[in-house]
Amino acid sequence: MSFSTLGLSDKVLAAVEASGYTTPTPIQEQAIPHVLARRDVLGIAQTGTGKTAAFVLPMMTMLENGRARARMPRTLILEPTRELAAQVEESFTRYSIKQKLNVALIIGGVSFDEQDAKLTRGVDVLIATPGRLLDHFERGRLLMSGVELLVIDEADRMLDMGFIPDIERICKLVPFTRQTLFFTATMPPEIQRITEQFLHNPVRVEVSKPASTVDNITQRLVKTGREPHDKRDTLRSLIRAAEGLTNGIIFCNRKREVALLHKSLARHGFSAVALHGDMDQSARTAALDAFRKNEVTLLVASDVAARGLDIPAVSHVFNFDVPHHADDYVHRIGRTGRAGRLGTAITIVAPSEQKGITAIESLIGKSIEWMGEPPRSSSSSDEPTESSDARPARSGARPPRSRGGRSRNGRGSESRPEGRAPEARPEVHAEQRPESRQPAAQPAAPVARLDDVRQRRDRPAPAAPAPAAADDFDGSHLPAFLLRPVRIKA
Ligand code: AMP
Repeated sequence: MSFSTLGLSDKVLAAVEASGYTTPTPIQEQAIPHVLARRDVLGIAQTGTGKTAAFVLPMMTMLENGRARARMPRTLILEPTRELAAQVEESFTRYSIKQKLNVALIIGGVSFDEQDAKLTRGVDVLIATPGRLLDHFERGRLLMSGVELLVIDEADRMLDMGFIPDIERICKLVPFTRQTLFFTATMPPEIQRITEQFLHNPVRVEVSKPASTVDNITQRLVKTGREPHDKRDTLRSLIRAAEGLTNGIIFCNRKREVALLHKSLARHGFSAVALHGDMDQSARTAALDAFRKNEVTLLVASDVAARGLDIPAVSHVFNFDVPHHADDYVHRIGRTGRAGRLGTAITIVAPSEQKGITAIESLIGKSIEWMGEPPRSSSSSDEPTESSDARPARSGARPPRSRGGRSRNGRGSESRPEGRAPEARPEVHAEQRPESRQPAAQPAAPVARLDDVRQRRDRPAPAAPAPAAADDFDGSHLPAFLLRPVRIKA
């Protein structure tokens, strides 16, 4: 199958050829003819499948006729994060060598006035995050009645971030007769409901995950202690000992942790940048650019900021925290081992996080090998957990998150892609131990080198887990009142 059979215009075909793509990916092959036939499309596909070009290329073909009017965009693409929106804008830039299109990016964290000026000139393609789009609309600077085609991308991520009420509102603001292209990686019930409400007789196009997310990724677990500095010690040792580390992404569960860890790594002389939702847009863009251009080795990131980013050739992923949701683990490790390359994903596990590992292993259908000694109670599901969010792998829907992001009813903090001021939080500086800036000669934590692990791989698995040693017990599951001193009456 070649691009020329899909019905794309000559100008678009020339641009595709110039970009070096010769064969459409399955989602492109299946979706493009339907988009050009003006059908609504429900695309079940995730990043890495070529889904962006699956809507960008036919849109460009369709936009060759007609002109944009002031404040009335002809097409609208909704993205959950600023980075994804910027990535889609880059796609338009790449393919529009033969065609002059007015593309506007309406995202938080950048000048409102500049965006307004662009809207006034008239835009063919408006790429937006929901909050900032509604801000412009509420100020009366934008009319959505001219939208002929609406793209809702990464819909399940929108759900996670609490954007669904905004999406519903926007869907009601654009004309009923518009064409809608809806992309999601999964179909939880709430997404199903939205598709039933807003898509008209859609063609369903489903592609499987990009080839073997896990087969070409060496996955390992490393136990660490329960103190905050234990994780940082372990991480530094892992980075220093990692074989073939060219660049790596370190995922944390919380934005505050991203900032703290980044500072700590920088203090220890590592080349690192941070990416999280509380950073302003120029800092986010600069961090990502530096990482993409290999000017820095490590990117410390939160899930929302890093989700869906197309960063080729990442050699290592480190999970500084076990993710609260098992499916985030799959997304995180999928940042490495892209396009058939080899990758390594190492997860640091504190005693209180072992329950999360059980959930991940049940989702991916296999157990992950420990580097060094496994914790005694690694397979015990009774292990106390700090995180009430560490729920088992979902079978379909994921309830809305309580942390980060917008709640379903309100605007949360990770949605500050929309440019709202971060809430004030007490800064807890956990890095207390003075340490040398020079990399230590020996790993500080009980970490094995990867080749040690490989040698150990063939040994028989440890026998049934022993009862938790006193060492593994951190008391975090005890209610506070049980820990208070007791006065016994005589
Ligand atoms: P996406 O899923 O849209 O994020 O795309 C993932 C990557 O695949 C991007 O780097 C695209 O540039 C690339 N890509 C898109 N379409 C093709 C194609 N037909 N052939 C090869 N690579 C592609």
